[in-house]
Amino acid sequence: MHSINRYAEMRQESARVGERPLFALPKTPNELELQARWFASEFGRKFQTLTSDPVEIVQFGFWNHEAGPDFQDAAIRIAGGPVLQGAIEIDLLDRNWELHGHATNPAFDDAILHIFLERSGVEFFARTSTHRNVPQVQLDLASLRDAAIGMVPLAHAGRCVAPLRNLAAERITSILEGAAKFRLRQKANRLRQRIEAHGREEVLFQAIAEALGYKQNRLPFTLLTQRLPVTFLRKQQEDSEALLFGVAGFLDAPGLDAARKSTRTYLRLLWDRWWKYREQFSRLVLPHKIWKMSGARPLNHPHRRLGALATLVMEWKTVVSLACGGEAAAVVSFLTNLQHDFWSHHYTLAAGSTSSSVALIGESRAAEILANVIYPLAVNDGREIWNGYKKLRAQLSNRAARIAAARLFAGDSRQRDFVRTLAGQQGLLQIYEDFCLRDASDCASCPLPEQLRRW
Ligand code: SF4
Repeated sequence: MHSINRYAEMRQESARVGERPLFALPKTPNELELQARWFASEFGRKFQTLTSDPVEIVQFGFWNHEAGPDFQDAAIRIAGGPVLQGAIEIDLLDRNWELHGHATNPAFDDAILHIFLERSGVEFFARTSTHRNVPQVQLDLASLRDAAIGMVPLAHAGRCVAPLRNLAAERITSILEGAAKFRLRQKANRLRQRIEAHGREEVLFQAIAEALGYKQNRLPFTLLTQRLPVTFLRKQQEDSEALLFGVAGFLDAPGLDAARKSTRTYLRLLWDRWWKYREQFSRLVLPHKIWKMSGARPLNHPHRRLGALATLVMEWKTVVSLACGGEAAAVVSFLTNLQHDFWSHHYTLAAGSTSSSVALIGESRAAEILANVIYPLAVNDGREIWNGYKKLRAQLSNRAARIAAARLFAGDSRQRDFVRTLAGQQGLLQIYEDFCLRDASDCASCPLPEQLRRW
């Protein structure tokens, strides 16, 4: 049997044994996160209204940068009926429709759907100023795929250490590869679902931005690329960098007035272009508090990452062509050799210049982009990539993969061999999510150790 199928079987058993729900209810997200996840189709496309009618999202629409509902030009189908076009409003609470005055605001008259997360206990209807009833849908957080991610168990040695230590290296490699292939297929499926909603180029842009945002700034990078689609940025290519920094809220950030001379020149260039759009886009500018600036290495500061994204917009044709069939080495070489007049020499918008040139995108970020974007797209395209993939080396930079390595291979001198490839690390991450994060018994009920003996 193929290693991917064997891994899928092992994983099913873990889901049965899991003592807590597969996806424990995460903390309530903020409204922006909820909207971004909905727009990214993470809740799926099929829902039920409060009156039990099935609703299908035919088109997710566009982030609205004017007064009115959050998304405009969306299309839905209710109970298999005709396609309805209009706007969609998303709130945390059902009663926000009333509280925020949407019922009397004509800007909400073309709303076709009101989506919310929590009910207030009292019945609230969504109606427009013309007294039309707007169907309502309650989202279910438990349906989010990665809701459980983030519940990090302690990095102590697990019960699987002993059976793993007794397995030959080739067997462990085969397990990790099975898990890595399974992960790759899942990523490919998710991208395909998003591509159906937004088209290939936009999803390519969004997924690269997510990888550049790391875990801490994934949300603002996602919001930025949802609000500034690459097709739009390409049409205003000269202004695209200013638009990205403007909508990110970085050009209004406090403390930039005191910036050094080299920075001031760059800021002026951005401002000269941004001011034309500022009013039109003011509603889409991200709030400062959404960005996590502390804790990141200077090289990974969001300002620099955004500089890298802006550079990719300028090189978009090459990005698209590499994503359609480029070899891994060509992708890594392209990404790690990107240059920018300002960002190759600065860590942030306010910092002075560095003594030497610093890479816009380093090797570990390039590996993330390969693993999360380029290879899953290749799987969807039906291209054979596995032989190249499994040879690709990568630094162990992901915290969850490091914890998993510590739990599964504690004291095993072969540990480094298993995680020096991207496939090994991706396989470990999959095992960590499928077994460690589902386990609430401190390994006692985890089925992996027994399954390993049968592999
Ligand atoms: S939960 Fe399972 S996979 Fe994770 S360390 Fe414990 S025994 Fe190993």
